[in-house]
Amino acid sequence: MSLFENTLAQIRKASDLMGLSANAREVLSRHERILEVSVPVKMDDGTVRVFQGYRCQHNSLRGPYKGGIRFHPDVDLGEVKALSAWMTMKCAVVGIPLGGGKGGIIVDSKKLSPRELEAMTREYARAITPFIGPKMDIPAPDVYTNAQIMGWIADEYSKIKGENVLGVVTGKALAMGGSEGRDTATSMGGMHVLMEYLKERGVAPAGLRVAVQGFGNAGSFMAKFAQEAGMSVIAVSDSKNGVFCAGGLDIPTVMAGKAEKGEVALCTNAGIGGAACSVVSNVELLALDCDILVLSALENQVTQENAANVKARMILELANGPVTPEADEILKGMGVPVIPDILANAGGVTVSYFELVQNEANYYWSAEEVQAKLKPIMVKAWMDISANQKKYNCTYREAAFISALRRLADALKWRRGIE
Ligand code: NAD
Repeated sequence: MSLFENTLAQIRKASDLMGLSANAREVLSRHERILEVSVPVKMDDGTVRVFQGYRCQHNSLRGPYKGGIRFHPDVDLGEVKALSAWMTMKCAVVGIPLGGGKGGIIVDSKKLSPRELEAMTREYARAITPFIGPKMDIPAPDVYTNAQIMGWIADEYSKIKGENVLGVVTGKALAMGGSEGRDTATSMGGMHVLMEYLKERGVAPAGLRVAVQGFGNAGSFMAKFAQEAGMSVIAVSDSKNGVFCAGGLDIPTVMAGKAEKGEVALCTNAGIGGAACSVVSNVELLALDCDILVLSALENQVTQENAANVKARMILELANGPVTPEADEILKGMGVPVIPDILANAGGVTVSYFELVQNEANYYWSAEEVQAKLKPIMVKAWMDISANQKKYNCTYREAAFISALRRLADALKWRRGIE
């Protein structure tokens, strides 16, 4: 199954449960626009390489397209189509006035020099410039893209337009129109949802054992916040390997070690109080006995092949699409709840929306203001989804899709008269 077929299966399931009209299903299962662009770059050795790039614009019924740009060798059109459709659902889940888009370039960006990376990014920005903008489509960082890359895109776009258009992308550095709290927004949003889930179940966070797959922007801050909430983060991993300590890891030490050595598996004394850690593979991490498994790397990590090995009591999806539909069914049978990506990681796009609002107003909020605005949005989204989950006796993923599809169907009715 391609990743986009997974998305369609999720839309179909929720549509059946809620009785969504055939017309709305048809509209919401298609993309409004798909761009395929070539990105020629003169490399440092004088040769020319032409990279393949995409930007998919799934749906704009509720507002301009919004979604990240990924630089990864495994990017393909099916993946970008899926990710852009999930963005539509995600924005609708948290009720922010944005639609869904996503972009990517097929590239192993770690192998590019800084000059080549900048040249490729600026060339890609030029290729998509006619189709992006604060009122049209607003990209953001995703896997292996960051504030520097957003800075280059905003600069290139502004040069072409002949004016400062910082709101063309979000996830920028604070020095050029970024928002306070954007770097931690995805994990903070995930924490708010997790705490509400635990509260509803009457479970205290202190001492809960957490394993985190993926130690980038989303995963590392999630691990840090989990430790600060009194949980015991027993394992974290990156693309190479993971590190495990039964007594809990000290996350700031792992963060410093990863920054210095490049791999979490080299942080061998990062246990609490300097305790020694052992190396675990990503396969082993997914099967660790723990209370909460946080998936914050890439899609298709828990599949029909390994879902039965999961020993965690629940899964929190900070990555997009880390659990396949087949694995969802297996986990449901095992009684392992999955808090889905379109809710759990929606804090990122919510603060991106705040960044856009601040750019358009050219007036900036304090970190405290950002946090104070984020929490009620995440809590309200959780409440809606928890209520749906009980009403339809379904999974949290189905409940989240129902919430999103209802808002999108409403917009379709009011904008186009389609029911
Ligand atoms: P990132 O590039 O900062 O980090 C990705 C991490 O995953 C790195 O530590 C990398 O080493 C690790 N990784 C890559 N392949 C792996 C593998 N096969 N096994 C284990 N670890 C692996 O990216 P990020 O921004 O943290 O994004 C991670 C996920 O979260 C993606 O699915 C992304 O779409 C999703 N997400 C991120 C944000 C955000 O604001 N950053 C928002 C919403 C969703």
